[in-house]
Amino acid sequence: MILDNLNTEQYEAVVYKNGPILVLSGAGTGKTRVLTSRFAYLVQNKGVNPQSIMAVTFTNKAASEIKNRVSKELNLSINSHWIGTFHSIFAKFLRKHCSIVGLKPNFTILDIEDQKKLIKQVISFLKLDNELNEGIILSEIQNLKDEMILSTDNKAVLRHSSIKDIDSIYNLYQERLVEINSSDFGDLLLHSYNILKNNSQILDKYKSYLDHILIDEFQDTNVIQYELIKLLLNENKNIFCVGDDDQSIYAWRGAKVENILNFPDEFKAPVIRLTKNYRSNDSILRAASEIIGHNKNRLGKKLECANKEIKNNKIILQSFYSQEEESLWIADTISNLINHKDVSFSILVRMTAQMRSIEDKLIKYALPYEIIGGPRFFERKEVKDIIAYLKLAHSNDSDLSFERIINLPRRGIGEQTLNLIIQNSRENKISFLESSRELLNKKFFPQAVSTKITLFLSLIDKCKDLMHKTNLEDFGIFVIEESGYMKMLEIEKNTKKKLENETRIENLKELVNAMSEFSNLEEFLEHVGLVNDNIKNSEKNNITLMTLHGAKGLEFDHVFLPGWEEGIFPSARALEEKCNKSLEEERRLAYVGITRAKSNLYISYATSRYTYGVNNFSVPSRFLSEMNNSVFSTNISKEGSFKSKLKYIDSESLSPGKKRMLEFLKKHK
Ligand code: ATP
Ligand code: MG
Repeated sequence: MILDNLNTEQYEAVVYKNGPILVLSGAGTGKTRVLTSRFAYLVQNKGVNPQSIMAVTFTNKAASEIKNRVSKELNLSINSHWIGTFHSIFAKFLRKHCSIVGLKPNFTILDIEDQKKLIKQVISFLKLDNELNEGIILSEIQNLKDEMILSTDNKAVLRHSSIKDIDSIYNLYQERLVEINSSDFGDLLLHSYNILKNNSQILDKYKSYLDHILIDEFQDTNVIQYELIKLLLNENKNIFCVGDDDQSIYAWRGAKVENILNFPDEFKAPVIRLTKNYRSNDSILRAASEIIGHNKNRLGKKLECANKEIKNNKIILQSFYSQEEESLWIADTISNLINHKDVSFSILVRMTAQMRSIEDKLIKYALPYEIIGGPRFFERKEVKDIIAYLKLAHSNDSDLSFERIINLPRRGIGEQTLNLIIQNSRENKISFLESSRELLNKKFFPQAVSTKITLFLSLIDKCKDLMHKTNLEDFGIFVIEESGYMKMLEIEKNTKKKLENETRIENLKELVNAMSEFSNLEEFLEHVGLVNDNIKNSEKNNITLMTLHGAKGLEFDHVFLPGWEEGIFPSARALEEKCNKSLEEERRLAYVGITRAKSNLYISYATSRYTYGVNNFSVPSRFLSEMNNSVFSTNISKEGSFKSKLKYIDSESLSPGKKRMLEFLKKHK
């Protein structure tokens, strides 16, 4: 069964003898399929214990696909910690060994907002120039971590970064993370690396039983990820990588395409190339090849359509006057096609800001859709507030949560009281929660304040007690109600806020739904921590809305690519940088977007866009003219829309962008 339905090259890769190997091939050629088949093959045909295979996937969907395939084909249910994304695998590893780096097993994985808060605290503690933007500092620290540069290696930090005082900020930030028993995303990998590197006993133990390492989307691994893998590799060097240099789209997050390019030499590994594409029709593949052909920096490969059953529908190209019209058309088109349950639709945007108007129209058409990635549910304010209660109930050390909720809803506990609690906690090296308890016992506060703090602490105690006694759903409802949070939302009188609060209430109800899917709080909080990294398996809804970056590895029957305008796609930043490197990365992103489609691809752009109260005219993306006319459907209503657009061109002052637009229009007339 496992080896059925594989072509010759795929078969060769799946049954490859042991040792390092690279499968390098274009989109939709079955790389992920080969990887999951290899896993099943090793277990079934080679008797390898599933627990001794590490399979790093890019999405949780691919991870569950491996688990499902193995359980279906081998009738074996596997619950391995070694199948998943880098972050999910090493979060589990770190929980096991965290004491070595000074963390307790219930450590929290901080999200971006909490990380920023911490950076802000650090900057103010160090009495540094407050003009520094914590977002920039944070992403710099993340870069340093991706590059495997430790906070203790001051010289390397300063060599790598030009941000003033970055060394002391990074240092104190790391100290504080440990003090509040927390880890950020970078630390999940960096701590794991250090634990393995500095403890040969632990490393040897893992090396002795992890006998195979399989990695999907290898082109997007960064330094720390690759070094971790190499560290874990034992003398058999069974490393099986699959990837596509044309789909390297995470350089901005530290991904090194060199990892895949140098792999064959570094490991003296053979390379297997798959050329047959089973996903997309011929027009889609031709368009993808034409666009990516404009990149100079690539190994180059051919895509040949092998799926004869797929209809060769041409690509539909549309232009609109405004973004609103464009979104309306997307919703309208989907609503005309959606009668089949098993047809999937995806709308892939370059920027999350594009999502709002599309969402709006999908709602208008009452179409069931799901946003993947993007503005995350767990990052909404009200959701975060309630999660702060959960975190504090779960761990006394969660100082950021304490700070967030001590006076939310308002309990009359002011800034001054909080500062006293914080000061006492710093002096005695105890958590904020313990500090408030201690001060209370010492009768440090005036009676009125004491009563308020006592009430708050007894609420937290009740939560701590209840969380072991009831299911998570009931526990969630208890927290939302007993904290007074729901009441606070309900009693709002201001009409505008009232409406907003209704959405918030809905969100909290949804939070309880989310909690009900977990058996304990720890698992739920771990999920929340990792959710940024997750791409949800969208079984419920067959319309998904996400960014192009999040769509890697996925496929859909109908794919909409809106906003193909200069400044949006390619992005303004890529254009400003005026270097080929960023433009080539944008082009790879276009290639990823196009190749997500199986049979129907829709590309569109608006000639004007309303942002920040200003209506800006825009010109079509240069990527459009990089595709041959013959890939587009002849039915496109180019005439009408293009003519209307011509009105807006001021021929007196032709900018390079406008010139390109005119050329484009001429070509497509
Ligand atoms: P990407 O580069 O986008 O991640 P990929 O190379 O990983 O793509 P897969 O997702 O594994 O490609 O496969 C693409 C599609 O082709 C899937 O629907 C898969 O089931 C199908 N497929 C792969 N190999 C075959 C085959 N030999 N016969 C039929 N269908 C196949
Ligand atoms: Mg894949």
